[in-house]
Amino acid sequence: MLPQVIIIGRPNVGKSTLFNRLVGKKVALVDDQPGVTRDRRFGEAHLLGLDFTIVDTAGWEDDDAQSLPGRMRAQTEASLETADLALFVIDARAGLTPLDEEISRWLRGSPVPVILVANKAEGRAGEGGLLESYSLGLGDPVPISAEHGEGMGDLFEALLPHL
Ligand code: GDP
Ligand code: MG
Repeated sequence: MLPQVIIIGRPNVGKSTLFNRLVGKKVALVDDQPGVTRDRRFGEAHLLGLDFTIVDTAGWEDDDAQSLPGRMRAQTEASLETADLALFVIDARAGLTPLDEEISRWLRGSPVPVILVANKAEGRAGEGGLLESYSLGLGDPVPISAEHGEGMGDLFEALLPHL
């Protein structure tokens, strides 16, 4: 069985874009399919010779973005039970939000290792958010651009010791 890596983060940080990038083909946007199960998507990911199962989470998009809703938390905790590693994605352009801080607080208490991923880091607009993200206490952020495919070598190096 392939190791399982779960992508976690608040809405709109680029989780599904990263999922699509790692799976390597365009998967229909979950947001365009009302009524289908939107909580989790599984794909087989390939990254520079690493093969793993990648899990995209999206169960809380409709909830109040100001606090971590119980439904999201329960769903993500269930996903974490089978995960070998979590990628916690933040939006380097938007900077940290209270929800990012709340998610990172309970990820720090999880037994699953977490890699902090600062997405949308192409160009210079992400520099502030990247620096800010050190304050989350989740180690050094890995700057990437899921949309432009940048930082995939650094992501590989961050994943390698865990898989
Ligand atoms: P999710 O809600 O976390 O799954 O986020 P999505 O993958 O749906 O992306 C949300 C928005 O961010 C979309 O408009 C994406 O095109 C955009 N986005 C994703 N990755 C990047 C990136 O690396 N750079 C920039 N500038 N935008 C991105
Ligand atoms: Mg999504």
